[in-house]
Amino acid sequence: MSAKTVTAILALKRDGGELDEASIKSFVRGASGDSEWADYQLSAMLMAIFIRGMTLAETVALTCAVVASGVRVDWAQARAAGWTHVIDKHSTGGVGDKVSLPLAAMVAACGVAVPMLSGRGLGHTGGTLDKLEAIPGMRVHATPAEFVSIVTSVGTAIVGAGADLAPADARLYALRDVTATVESMPLIAASIIGKKVAGGADGLVLDVKYGAGAFMTDRSRALALANELVALGKALGLPVCAVLTSVHEPLGRTVGNALEVAEALACLRGTGPPDVMAVTLALGEQMLMLAGAAPSAPAARAALLAAVKSGAALAKFRDLVVAQGGDARAVDDPAAHLPRATLQLPVCAPTEGAGAGGYVVSVNAMAVALAALRLGAGRAHTSDGVDHAVGVAELVKTGERVAPGGVLCIVHANDAVAAAAARDMLAAAICLAPEPVSQAVLVDEIIC
Ligand code: URA
Repeated sequence: MSAKTVTAILALKRDGGELDEASIKSFVRGASGDSEWADYQLSAMLMAIFIRGMTLAETVALTCAVVASGVRVDWAQARAAGWTHVIDKHSTGGVGDKVSLPLAAMVAACGVAVPMLSGRGLGHTGGTLDKLEAIPGMRVHATPAEFVSIVTSVGTAIVGAGADLAPADARLYALRDVTATVESMPLIAASIIGKKVAGGADGLVLDVKYGAGAFMTDRSRALALANELVALGKALGLPVCAVLTSVHEPLGRTVGNALEVAEALACLRGTGPPDVMAVTLALGEQMLMLAGAAPSAPAARAALLAAVKSGAALAKFRDLVVAQGGDARAVDDPAAHLPRATLQLPVCAPTEGAGAGGYVVSVNAMAVALAALRLGAGRAHTSDGVDHAVGVAELVKTGERVAPGGVLCIVHANDAVAAAAARDMLAAAICLAPEPVSQAVLVDEIIC
């Protein structure tokens, strides 16, 4: 118990003071429902932190307290089975980001265990767990013991973080969501790193995204978050490397759960879109190097590409699907065994006038995400379900040439009214011009 009262701790942070470890522990115990802190006091503290910020020492204490609020996964069983290195990956999220699926399989096929704790989507398209659930039968919940057992036998598993891992973060995040305090650097950093430390990996690679389709649109804020995350990881003894990537247009050519799984499988077959592969390889290189499994980025890239070429990465993903209860036929023949929407509606460029053909100069990622949400691919409220079959496919990419009346993308829908609305939204989201533009940098900077 802190020597200070709750109001004294609140007043100290409100006035810009530095909190000691005991005060931070008291606050986090409050978030675990185990002290004299009421929700309004927790909320006041979150707002004070949002406005005043935190020193690195405070953020370290907050992260440690969040980790201590629950269990920590122990990878001894996986190590004994030969998985000497356990590396996790986290993405701050972006439209069309299906990278976790090929990445986990490719890195595991190179001998590094990848236990991935993922989330569901809120706001626009589905999260990684929603994508995986497009595979018939797939289970995305596991006890820590089941999680360890799957990673030990396969080398990778992708499941949701259970309630026993960093439970104080779940409580604090719910309060941040309704008190306009989500966008605080130290709170984001403690939340992400706290869950990853509880996940027990030896190292962490972060994909910190910026652009129209990301949580942070502004590059400088994303860079500041990347630096904060790396500094916090280092202070806690967790090797962390952040890759700054842009997401102005959707990643790949699909947005929507089953469509994205099919695209992820194409990556594992060596036929995936270049941008998805570029981000997957950039992250995979850092994961292999962090594990000491490759001496350099080119060597890591060669190993990852060899795992795709030999079929080992695809086989690894198939093993993961089977271990998590999924139908392996969806991996072997996605066109026949992944859910498919009843309607396919092309969105075409005008046949005459302005915008009738030319070069794609922008595909607004957020507008595409909102069209996918209109179709039912994402959820507006946490309690909503998602339609795994619907979404947008065959999206044109910036720099491509489109003929007058040419196809810009295909809407996959289960409802004609939603399909027509999405078609209009998508037509407005894609801009053509007579002259090509240079493409934005995708893999921008590596911060280690
Ligand atoms: N993701 C998290 O896990 N926590 C945050 O605070 C923000 C994004």
